[in-house]
Amino acid sequence: MRAPSPTVIQVESLSKTFRRDGHDVTVLDDVSLSVAAGRIAGVIGPSGAGKSTLARTINLLECPTSGTVTVAGQELTRLRERDLQAARRRIGTIFQSASLLSSRTVAGNVALPLELAGIGRAERRARVAELVERVGLTHHAGAYPAQLSGGQRQRVGIARALALRPDVLLSDEATSGLDTATTRTILALLRELRDDLGLTILLITHEMDVVRDVCDEVTLLRGGRVVESGALADLVADPRSALGRGLIPERP
Ligand code: ADP
Ligand code: MG
Repeated sequence: MRAPSPTVIQVESLSKTFRRDGHDVTVLDDVSLSVAAGRIAGVIGPSGAGKSTLARTINLLECPTSGTVTVAGQELTRLRERDLQAARRRIGTIFQSASLLSSRTVAGNVALPLELAGIGRAERRARVAELVERVGLTHHAGAYPAQLSGGQRQRVGIARALALRPDVLLSDEATSGLDTATTRTILALLRELRDDLGLTILLITHEMDVVRDVCDEVTLLRGGRVVESGALADLVADPRSALGRGLIPERP
């Protein structure tokens, strides 16, 4: 028997409260989830459920009110700012808008994290070429973001997120602005990256189609709380679960 895959993302009892108009607003309430190596885990929920706050808290861009985040065995919530910067490299992040620098080419955008990390020119060039090829943009390496389609821009965002060879790819609505066909190609690319690089992917979305297409397991977040979670196959087979009902394609 094969040993079970190690847990790469472990979120335990995470809560986040914001102060708004003199009140405390709890946006994440005792959220726990764990993702094993090489899995694609979805987090789905309606707008305002706390998904983006969860993403930013996992990155420690937002400091949790309580609870812990552990990535690849390292508890991020106990690190000081200086160590946190290095630890954050283990997490590549992609967003709805790829947020590329318009003044830089595809290759220039992908090179940016390598430059910031102080990686030398020769290695940078080699890595950029490899990354750009991996996302299928070799022929566009010299193009500027304005010359690319939305799907191509997101591919650049993915290549840039992978530049420092993270263990985890965190995606917050990365396909939300894209049409169905382009969404499919991006999800296929994520699957390929998981298969080839052994990446662990946390895919945050409000779209059930995305979960159905690519996720191994899924957590339903509503009002900052985990409502349900489980393996996709089990949920689909369980008509009592809210996720199972949502995952069954609507009849035309
Ligand atoms: P989702 O991504 O699921 O749509 P968000 O995490 O963006 O949800 O937001 C969840 C709730 O948290 C919203 O009500 C939002 O207004 C609130 N919120 C998010 N960030 C902040 C902040 N920095 N200060 C106050 N409230 C916030
Ligand atoms: Mg969001």
